[in-house]
Amino acid sequence: MVNQVNVEIDDNDRIIGRNWRCPCGARVESYMANDVDCDRCGRLFNGYGQELAAQELWEEN
Ligand SMILES: [Zn+2]
Repeated sequence: MVNQVNVEIDDNDRIIGRNWRCPCGARVESYMANDVDCDRCGRLFNGYGQELAAQELWEEN
């Protein structure tokens, strides 16, 4: 999966937010690494641009 995440930093090089493109094509932004959902399609992501599968448990590989 290719999902380029752009990192936004402040003047002190601190990460203040990230944004990436949702598979539906909309731009999704997260600040303070909070979970966020897409305004257009409702997909849920964590603060690092990883899509979360709703109602399912993650399996660590
Ligand atoms: Zn979307």
